[in-house]
Amino acid sequence: MRLLVVEDETQLADALTEILKRNKYFVDTAYDGIDGLDCALSDVYDCILLDIMLPGMNGMEILKRLRSAKISTPVLLLTARSEIDDKINGLDCGADDYLTKPFITGELLARIRALTRRKGELIDDNRITFNDLDLNKNSCSVSRNSNDVKLSLKEFQIMELLMTNPHQILPKERIIEK
Ligand code: CA
Repeated sequence: MRLLVVEDETQLADALTEILKRNKYFVDTAYDGIDGLDCALSDVYDCILLDIMLPGMNGMEILKRLRSAKISTPVLLLTARSEIDDKINGLDCGADDYLTKPFITGELLARIRALTRRKGELIDDNRITFNDLDLNKNSCSVSRNSNDVKLSLKEFQIMELLMTNPHQILPKERIIEK
């Protein structure tokens, strides 16, 4: 799965990106609002983590523009504790969830899983099955008839994309974008 992190505090943005990559997500990072909107409009992401106070264009404006462009990518707002009104506004503007900074990694990952959960038959958060295939995120492997095959990260990401979009033909371009 491919995620976009839009956050101008570079330390936080880089830490988030690192954590997400370690959890087998493919991650792009934008450090200002203009770049964030540009990336988000490409519509290739499974979820967007969006800060509100950003240079260039604030998160709320990005959200409005995304939704008016009919892009329905799930958006998780990252808000400071003092921005209560922003949370309400954000949900009204089409955000799917929000997380108050500072947050713990476990909660962040759980919320991303909830927002990206769909289609493929998910046994639990770390396994996806389709027919006799069983994809395991923890061990980064796929098994069939008790034959385990260890996957590289890229192989795992491709399998995950295919297995969460069963019975569909995925054009090469979409796979490359993802
Ligand atoms: Ca900020």
